[in-house]
This record gives sequence, structure tokens and C-alpha cells, in this order.
Amino acid sequence: MSDRVLDLQGVSKIYRTEAEEIRALDNVSFAVNRGEFVGVTGPSGSGKSTLLHLVGCLDTPSSGQILFDGNPVHTLGDQGLATIRNERIGFVFQNFNLLPRISALNNVSLPLNYAGYSRKERSRKALASLERVRLGHRTSHKPSQMSGGERQRVAIARALVMEPSLILADEPTGNLDQKVGTEIMSLLFELNREQGATIVLITHDMAIAQKCPRVVSIRDGKIVEDSLS
Ligand code: ADP
Ligand code: MG
Repeated sequence: MSDRVLDLQGVSKIYRTEAEEIRALDNVSFAVNRGEFVGVTGPSGSGKSTLLHLVGCLDTPSSGQILFDGNPVHTLGDQGLATIRNERIGFVFQNFNLLPRISALNNVSLPLNYAGYSRKERSRKALASLERVRLGHRTSHKPSQMSGGERQRVAIARALVMEPSLILADEPTGNLDQKVGTEIMSLLFELNREQGATIVLITHDMAIAQKCPRVVSIRDGKIVEDSLS
């Protein structure tokens, strides 16, 4: 498999409303290699969500190319994009996006359901994934019975369960108090350093971004800084 998980080449995204054209991303080029941990930051309106949608195969660019694992995705249709999203990208959201009334194990199993794994394989893989986030003792708890930090760990276990090429985290600490947020960041760093997970983390919080080994800053749809710490 390609050493490059992501390669954006001259990517622009223009939103057209009746009144105006908004260039939300303007000729953006950047690549992410396997094993990197990249924090993407910028003020409100800078284009973070637009970038997340493109990198997450939730939308396609107006112009430019996007390669995922070495394969073009900017030309894919809805079905092709959906397959990449389920099989190659693990999403972690600010609000966890778990189903509150099914067990942690079943939440983590969901991507395996869509991919057609047997019941036995689903249980085995979901348990292994919960163990990776140190929640092996909470498999039958429902998210509604868990703390915010535990919920986010279940969401991270779900993101890991397909062994994706990329973990894409959107403000993963945004709904957590500072102490628990720091624990979640530590877990993400550990998954990157010790288990080789490739992570792109989007945050408006500069202090969080600055902790990442590589920081990409965007303003008005352009990359204004791309630095290694
Ligand atoms: P951020 O997530 O950094 O706050 P966004 O990517 O949401 O930035 O927005 C970048 C720019 O694109 C902003 O000017 C925003 O108003 C505009 N924008 C975002 N989504 C749409 C849309 N669906 N239609 C029109 N304009 C949009
Ligand atoms: Mg946004």
C-alpha cells in the first residue's frame, strides 16, 4: 500500500449561493504519510469543515485532485465514497455520534455489520478494539450509562475497528472538560506512537493543535503554515 495516505493537489472548493461564490478552499496542496499525526487548525470560517468533508470523502472538490491510499477519490460517486468512508476512514466527532441505547460492543461493531463480517468476527474484533482504548470491561454498557470520556473512547474504538488507513477526528475534545479532553488527546497520541495510527485532527483550538507533531494552519481557505514540532 502507498506510504501516502492522503495527497491533495491544488484542491479548491467553491460554494455557489444565489448571491455569491465562496471559495472555501483555494488551491490547497498537502500530503499525509502513513503514521503521521497532523493537527489542522484555523479560525471560524477558515475552511476546516470544508477540508474535513473532502478528506473524509463526504464531498468532492470543485477542482484539483485527491488521492486516498494512492487512488483518486475526487472522481468517485456516492457509492464509491461511502465504501472508502466505511472501510478506510475512522471518524471521531465532537458529539461522539453513538447510538445511546445499544451496548458499547454493538456500537463498535456497526462498521463491521456494513462490511458484512460474521457475528463471531464482529464480537471478536469489537472486543479487541474496546481493549485498545482500555474499555474491555465496559462492553455491555450503553453510551447513555457512560461518562463523556468513556463515550469518546467507545467512538475511538469504533473508528479503529475496521483498521482504517486514517483516523479523522473533528474537535474530539470539544464536548469534554479539560482534564478528560487531555486524557483523550493522550490516548490519540498513544494510538499514533505505539500502534501506528495515522491521525488528522481538526480543531479551532490552537493550544490543542500545537501539541500535535505536525500543525497545518488555514486562513481564508489557504494553508498559511505547515510545521513539524
Ligand atoms: P470552518 O469550519 O473553519 O469554520 P467552513 O469550512 O465551515 O469553515 O467554511 C468556510 C467558508 O465557506 C465560510 O465562509 C463559510 O461561510 C462557507 N461555507 C461553508 N459551507 C457552505 C455552504 N454549504 N454553502 C455556502 N457557503 C459555505
Ligand atoms: Mg467548521
